[in-house]
Amino acid sequence: MKNIDLHLPQDALDIISELIAAGFTAYAVGGCVRDALMGLPPKDVDICTSATPEEMKRVFSASHVVETGLKHGTLTVMRHHTPYEVTTFRLDGAYTDRRHPDSVRFVTDVREDLARRDFTVNAMAWNPDEGLVDAFHGREDLAAGVLRCVGDPVTRFTEDALRVMRALRFAAVYGFQIDPETDQAARRMAPGLLQVAAERIRVELAKLLCGWYAGRILRAYPDILTLLIPELKPCVGFDQRNPHHLWDVWEHSVRAVENAPATEPLRLAMLLHDIGKPDTFTVDEQGVGHFYGHPKRSAELAEAVCDRLKLDTATRERVLLLVRHHDEALRPERRAMLRALNRHGEAALRDLIAVRQADAIATGTADPAEVRAACDGLLRALDEALASEACFSLRQLAVNGQDLIRLGLKPGPALGETLNGLLQAVMDGALPNEREALVGAVKAQLSQAQRS
Ligand code: ATP
Ligand code: MG
Repeated sequence: MKNIDLHLPQDALDIISELIAAGFTAYAVGGCVRDALMGLPPKDVDICTSATPEEMKRVFSASHVVETGLKHGTLTVMRHHTPYEVTTFRLDGAYTDRRHPDSVRFVTDVREDLARRDFTVNAMAWNPDEGLVDAFHGREDLAAGVLRCVGDPVTRFTEDALRVMRALRFAAVYGFQIDPETDQAARRMAPGLLQVAAERIRVELAKLLCGWYAGRILRAYPDILTLLIPELKPCVGFDQRNPHHLWDVWEHSVRAVENAPATEPLRLAMLLHDIGKPDTFTVDEQGVGHFYGHPKRSAELAEAVCDRLKLDTATRERVLLLVRHHDEALRPERRAMLRALNRHGEAALRDLIAVRQADAIATGTADPAEVRAACDGLLRALDEALASEACFSLRQLAVNGQDLIRLGLKPGPALGETLNGLLQAVMDGALPNEREALVGAVKAQLSQAQRS
């Protein structure tokens, strides 16, 4: 008898029915079942089946399919431009490269496939005919908000240490309590993470940091976080001895993460923005702590962290920019805004304003409402500057290098300086961004140079 109905996309239901009609068993499985039971829209629907990859190819011969990982039993079926991963029920062998199982063995019973999965809440399968297949009491754990390994936690974390990060990630995203046995095993087996491919860790770390409950997890597991990012270790419990700071560097950083928008570059930047503080700490005669030059030191240390995590270039550059400039003064006056736009560009400047807000609120000594009002003011000034189509980059300037060469300047660094000088004058309002005026200014400069 069917025990429960789940709302899944029609295309996923069709793929499952087509497999069943061909004589196989098939289910939606993993994250989509968990999310649907929580009433959340599934991000993507993974399907598992008793059909082997060759058999699947026959069933879906009329569909657009991508042979994603035939060796591991996975075929991607496209429906309305959405990919559905369909995977043969399997058992995993050992993970000696810490990345993929060495071997997989295809099996015919969905329960065996569920047993290889990491957590009980991720080990449920469902189809419209049979309803929920829940061999490990995932539904109960889900209702109680508990994250628990399938099987013996120490064994499961030893097989694949990434599961330690996945435990923290699921707890950070959904607010699950990690079951005590799973928790203890995760702490004990965490050093295995050092052997896991950085690319896999990065994905889980990003999801963890962007989770609604990220702060709770960072506070509960500094030892695991500092294993991955040892540069953070001196921050934990580091007393700032500064009247503007209520919290130690670690707690401040955690609060900064919590107060930043949930994007990977912003949350990672908040986690790392003050890692240079312990290295730059000084105490003045009044006994007050200072951290002169810490943004630069933080950026140096953050660079090593980004490299270790193998971030893509765009994320890496954004994180480093935000860390390097997190303390920079931002002012709403038009001139200051144009200069900031010139230095960082629009997207990075928006992020810097978010960094400013999160950092200030996380000091514990500023009034959050005032901080938000000030940052809203900065955003308004930014929008106004953009709406006025003001010039803040060389690309927008009404003259270019060719124009100056025609006036007799030689190509080279001096020409670049002249262009930048014109841009500064335009941003300051000393010159209009008009060709004639700018050419006139250059000509005047040239004749003055000839005379002297
Ligand atoms: P999300 O919704 O964030 O994608 P998810 O649960 O779907 O979460 P995925 O990483 O997409 O997570 O993995 C899909 C499923 O595969 C999981 O639900 C789990 O059953 C299984 N799984 C993934 N990674 C592992 C692993 N390292 N060890 C065991 N099972 C895993
Ligand atoms: Mg998924």
